[in-house]
Amino acid sequence: MDILIPTLPSPIQLLTDEVILKAGIKLYLKRDDLIHPDVSGNKWRKLKYSLKEAKNLGKKTILTFGGAYSNHLYATAAAGNALGFKTIGVVRGEDASVRLSPTLAYCQEQNMHLHFVSRQEYRNRHDEQYLREISMQFDNPYMIPEGGTAALALKGVGEMTAEVEMHLGIKPAYYATAAGTGGTAAGILSTGNNVLGFAALKGGDFLKGDIETLLQGHVGLGNLQLMTEYHFGGYAKWTPELLAFMSEFYVKHGVQLEQVYTAKMLYGIYDLMDKSFFKPGDVVVAVHTGGLQGLLPQARL
Ligand SMILES: *Cc1c(COP(=O)(O)O)cnc(C)c1O
Repeated sequence: MDILIPTLPSPIQLLTDEVILKAGIKLYLKRDDLIHPDVSGNKWRKLKYSLKEAKNLGKKTILTFGGAYSNHLYATAAAGNALGFKTIGVVRGEDASVRLSPTLAYCQEQNMHLHFVSRQEYRNRHDEQYLREISMQFDNPYMIPEGGTAALALKGVGEMTAEVEMHLGIKPAYYATAAGTGGTAAGILSTGNNVLGFAALKGGDFLKGDIETLLQGHVGLGNLQLMTEYHFGGYAKWTPELLAFMSEFYVKHGVQLEQVYTAKMLYGIYDLMDKSFFKPGDVVVAVHTGGLQGLLPQARL
């Protein structure tokens, strides 16, 4: 991954405003959005060791899964291209092939082969038999699960908390992260740190079980609190209120958020501060997981 020239350790920024002062907490933003322009944030962290393993195994091709707006497909296409892998994206929904989303158009420019499957077939993406079949169809590629959320992703995410601890000299009371597949939350928990996970999708309670599965065999885990009420209508859905929050946040802190993940998490943190969820003195580290390639054009500040 070195030829991708990451900015590491990523910066950590102390946020201050009247809400934070009133809550009496210290709120930091871990700027993983600045790691790399195309392989951003948690996708860089999650892919690092999978791509290393693929290389060590002598694999020439990476195959992975995602939807038409997947930051993970985008990151894999960019990283794969830079590192000399062929990449195959198994894309949810044949309709996605009719008019390529900007994300998929970029993937194609990065030489990713897009393989469109029905939503029904896509549901098999974790099924071993299905994975064997698709592996044979594509000549035995290195397979990375949806979202980059492989067992090896946890190790990469763990390096993020190590950077934070090196910088702050303490374990914070909480890390806050947006959650899609839960891989990032699981990685943080695996280091013994507590996580406030903000589900970016509706009905996010299933994430608890998925995160537990990812953490099987790990010991000394942190505590997970999953927030499922900040989805703003569902995955990739947004409201004018969310965009207004993003713009207010930008004016106060000079940081661009995006509407799919990071804005929902920070909106949730501000709501929790209003509701006195935190104890005065708590140190909270919110992870800016990146994803700005998927920013709505009208929300760019
Ligand atoms: C993919 C993504 C997430 C979700 O991460 P999981 O590990 O799948 O929970 C959060 N934020 C951004 C910006 C992402 O691209």
